[in-house]
Amino acid sequence: RAGPEEAAIRERVATSDGRKIEVAANVGRAADLEGAVSQGADGIGLYRTEFLFLDREEPPAEDEQYERYVEALEAFPEGRVVVRTLDIGGDKQIPYLDLPAEENPFLGERGIRRSLGSDRELFETQLRALLRAGAVAGGDLAVMFPLVSTVEELDRALDRVEAVADSLASEGLEYAIPELGVMIETPGAVFVAEELASRVDFLSIGTNDLAQYVMAAARENERVADLHDPLHPPVLRAIRRSIEAAHDNDAWIGMCGEMAGDPDLTELLIGLGLDELSMSAVTIPAVKANVGAVETDRANDLAERALATTTRADVTNLLTDP
Ligand code: PEP
Ligand code: MG
Repeated sequence: RAGPEEAAIRERVATSDGRKIEVAANVGRAADLEGAVSQGADGIGLYRTEFLFLDREEPPAEDEQYERYVEALEAFPEGRVVVRTLDIGGDKQIPYLDLPAEENPFLGERGIRRSLGSDRELFETQLRALLRAGAVAGGDLAVMFPLVSTVEELDRALDRVEAVADSLASEGLEYAIPELGVMIETPGAVFVAEELASRVDFLSIGTNDLAQYVMAAARENERVADLHDPLHPPVLRAIRRSIEAAHDNDAWIGMCGEMAGDPDLTELLIGLGLDELSMSAVTIPAVKANVGAVETDRANDLAERALATTTRADVTNLLTDP
């Protein structure tokens, strides 16, 4: 049984006026699962499945993937586990998949584009493993698609889910369709967020990529690091637009980019309207502690003022001297 300290860490948090905020962990290596539990994550908000494909010579088979997803569900018997389908290309490489040398890999075939294109078979195998894991008793699985920029891509991905469900049914295998979601990390997705949200259960904002694409500043280029910053007004406004689109369409919305784990931004992010924040496990205790000190009305006011700023410097001033 959990001792009092451990129980306190596990506690779910709410603002001082009772608005519940889910604080979840990002998992990108096998060891992260343990850290997520020990730091008191409510669940997993981003399970980067790329790591299952790394340091080996061939992709993991369906059964192996199934076991890994079940393992994650078992680590969080009372929390949701959001698994992202394979997101490679751009800065994410897997040697044996022989990714083409593209002139602009960040603008090339990555994320869902590969899953619907060159990696169709891998996508099908992964969906089979995920739908089977969705049937595990007591588990709360969710699946989301990375780098979507059109409604057509989402529709095609959802068709694939249906097709996989049909095959599993015809084979007599147990399965369940999990909660489904889309990552908001391209300007295209922001501008059709209403249509995306109306088709799925949730959205999750990937600010690492969203800042990169909104600001046209590569995420790993130090020469433009000051532009690759989610606190620039254009990115803040893209975030707000996505949140409103989700809520207007009865979808919940989280954030799983690095921004979500900055304890100095907890009040702003709650004010912007996010329902869930997902981050590296190490920052969970600090963010959870901050959520309890937030008062919704004041946070909303802070967010309104942040959205009305013109420059990045104005945002800094607002945050340091609200
Ligand atoms: C993001 O882009 O913000 C995100 C969470 O995904 P990744 O960092 O894995 O691209
Ligand atoms: Mg991303």
